[in-house]
Amino acid sequence: MSRLIVVSNRVNPPSGKGEESVGGLAMALAAALREYSGLWFGWSGKTTPEFNGQLAMQKVDGVTVATVDLEEIDVDEYYNGYANKTLWPLFHYRTDLAAYDRAYGEGYERVNIRFAETLRPLIERDDLIWIHDYHLIPMARELRKLGVKNRIGFFLHVPWPAHQVFTTLPGHRLLVQALFDYDLVGFQTVEYRQAFEEYVLAEAGGAQTSPGHLKAFGRKLQVGAFPIGIDAADFARMLRSPRARRMRDLMAACTVFRHLIVGVDRLDYSKGLEERFIGFERLLAGHPDIRREVLMLQIAPVSREGVEAYQEIRGRLDALSGRINGEFADIDWAPFRYVNKNYRRDELAGIYGAARVGLVTPLRDGMNLVAKEFVASQNPEDPGVLILSRFAGAARQLDQALLVNPNSPEEVAEALKQALAMELPERIRRWRALFDNVQREDVTAWRDAYVAALAGTEQRRTALA
Ligand code: UDP
Repeated sequence: MSRLIVVSNRVNPPSGKGEESVGGLAMALAAALREYSGLWFGWSGKTTPEFNGQLAMQKVDGVTVATVDLEEIDVDEYYNGYANKTLWPLFHYRTDLAAYDRAYGEGYERVNIRFAETLRPLIERDDLIWIHDYHLIPMARELRKLGVKNRIGFFLHVPWPAHQVFTTLPGHRLLVQALFDYDLVGFQTVEYRQAFEEYVLAEAGGAQTSPGHLKAFGRKLQVGAFPIGIDAADFARMLRSPRARRMRDLMAACTVFRHLIVGVDRLDYSKGLEERFIGFERLLAGHPDIRREVLMLQIAPVSREGVEAYQEIRGRLDALSGRINGEFADIDWAPFRYVNKNYRRDELAGIYGAARVGLVTPLRDGMNLVAKEFVASQNPEDPGVLILSRFAGAARQLDQALLVNPNSPEEVAEALKQALAMELPERIRRWRALFDNVQREDVTAWRDAYVAALAGTEQRRTALA
């Protein structure tokens, strides 16, 4: 079996004990690498006054972890800049928030070159290299320049936007051209793959030679949809943990005679939090009979605080949550709990398990793992209802959820009403279909499908000498 090298912007291997609250991507990669005794390479999250390409190596759970520090200016231009102020908003259809600054683009190129140069000496002849997410699109091109002939795959965790949206990016052609230095490019859904293909055909003069095979820029490229999943086995273990149980009991005690509606999201403008809050407000306003029967808990740990748009949305959410409680709370009762704290994954498992409704309404989301975690946490005898945005990649697989248009607070309010009134047989029927998918298409299935596809790509380059 070839060794697997995984590259991602941040490298923060979880300890596997459930206490960490690292993002979905890191959890998925840790799970992906576990059985490959592979190498995980990326940024340490630390800065150094002058870049020196020095690798810090450690062994975590049989995985070799290699990290490198970046300069402050790299973090500003590459991470906060091009990745999070240009590409993130653009890939989530927020062209109004996308900032174009030449320095960001330069920083992005510079860091990708630095990553490639630092990783190069670690690459062995038969290694499969798997690069992750929008931070590192040009990395294969830089590795190729350094003579790397190994198979290199890329996986995009966020959506690939519609052609008209993507072309608003200055230099869009170069970015797509860089993707043609990979052997395989994977997307979360067929829809994103198709949007990419459409671009290649319409803007790059490319052609589809057979399903999943493209030709453009004088190169061939294989593309595919590989929906990411959760680590279902690990999640099941966490659900049984004392901490999860304690949390479930605590939440149950807070909601005697009331139904718990739960939302868990990084505080991000792509998550549809404002519309969701207003949807809940509409539910309360329109149904006085329901008011005393529900409690909504929104967990939203702050993220990317260095980016202005995140500070602004935070202010708006503070105001909205205050308004809802101001309007509907009583001396002995409040309908809404809004917390910016980060919770451990085993605690989240317990919270999801106590909820009657999981409210997952991003305006755009590559996949959304919270939706899958909510499903995995339900009691089979009395499961809760998942309300899911049709614009989350997860909606392709989880079509037995109540699918909503997250832009419409009215639709969110309607779905909440329907979920709260749903009888047990329907809840069980829907949940079983959802759970079956979450179990089957889990992170191991995702990794195996992707790695098999990458290993099976046509060997069109001679391997490293
Ligand atoms: N998460 C967490 N603690 C929190 C909030 C979220 O550990 O307080 C985790 C959550 O369990 C999920 C991940 O963060 O695994 C979020 O992944 P998702 O795909 O839903 O969204 P992303 O943040 O990657 O956009």
